[in-house]
Amino acid sequence: ARAAAQAAPLTDGALADGTPVPLLANLGTPESAAEAVQLGAEGVGLFRTEFLFLSSESAPSVEAQRKAYQELLEAFPGKKVVVRALDAGADKPLPFLNDAEEENPALGLRGLRALLTNEEVLRDQLSALAQAQEVTSADLWVMAPMVSTVEETETFAKFAHQHGLKTAGVMVEVPSSALLAEQILKTADFASIGTNDLTQYTMAADRLLGSVAGLQDPWHPAVLKLVREVGAAGTVTGKPVGVCGEAAADPLLAVVLVGLGVTSLSMAPAALADVRAELLRFTKDQARAIATAAVSASTAAEALQAAQHTATTLT
Ligand code: PEP
Ligand code: MG
Repeated sequence: ARAAAQAAPLTDGALADGTPVPLLANLGTPESAAEAVQLGAEGVGLFRTEFLFLSSESAPSVEAQRKAYQELLEAFPGKKVVVRALDAGADKPLPFLNDAEEENPALGLRGLRALLTNEEVLRDQLSALAQAQEVTSADLWVMAPMVSTVEETETFAKFAHQHGLKTAGVMVEVPSSALLAEQILKTADFASIGTNDLTQYTMAADRLLGSVAGLQDPWHPAVLKLVREVGAAGTVTGKPVGVCGEAAADPLLAVVLVGLGVTSLSMAPAALADVRAELLRFTKDQARAIATAAVSASTAAEALQAAQHTATTLT
């Protein structure tokens, strides 16, 4: 039985009515790619590049980065691979990029803001990605972390295009970019919602602080309404909208996200099987009904209950 299970081809992510929902992997090193492929990842929805920078006192060379990116891309021939530009600051501080004196690092020069004040780090990273893309067949998309304005989106897209990277998008992790999603998607080729930070910034609750952990809940209808805003902007502009935060790994929440207009889901590879199975239980209309029930609730607990109840009445 074990051999049979291993031999059975994993189906691509889809709803019960056949609507495709690509299921992608969140990865933090090139070495983790093989396992993700084995678990049925259809590509990579979030490649965190911080590992290259964490142990060093300065940025790694273009050549060292090129090698790592090439190894990643080679594991996904012909597949979509979304690489995130360095996300330094707040929960991922880097001594050579971030100011340790900031009183509120989560609200300071982090993510794309830190890269735009250290342009050579961004340029080197994009050069290394462009070189890796040249020699592999993967479909490379690049995205910027912690984007809060249209101007930042335009600047990042300009940098990416200057380096020969065709597909440039942004992470939606703060309420401003969710509320501006339609304008942002006029410039960006795609958006990817980072629900970990989007929840932190919507609820004004530090994602690392145990005493406010109860607020760090992506089921909160305030967070779901922002996701709905981004999903609607994706529908209007015809641009893809993914989710790459932890929320995508919660099977019923994954159904809600798709019902809110999200077109792909990226998660830790271990979560792929359960999410794949749950999506297959519902049609697009049913996912929309479950999402409407959740988003209309008053609290996170009620949103979960409403989604569970609606799901039960539909199946
Ligand atoms: C997020 O914020 O949801 C996200 C995917 O990015 P990270 O967890 O790396 O901040
Ligand atoms: Mg984030």
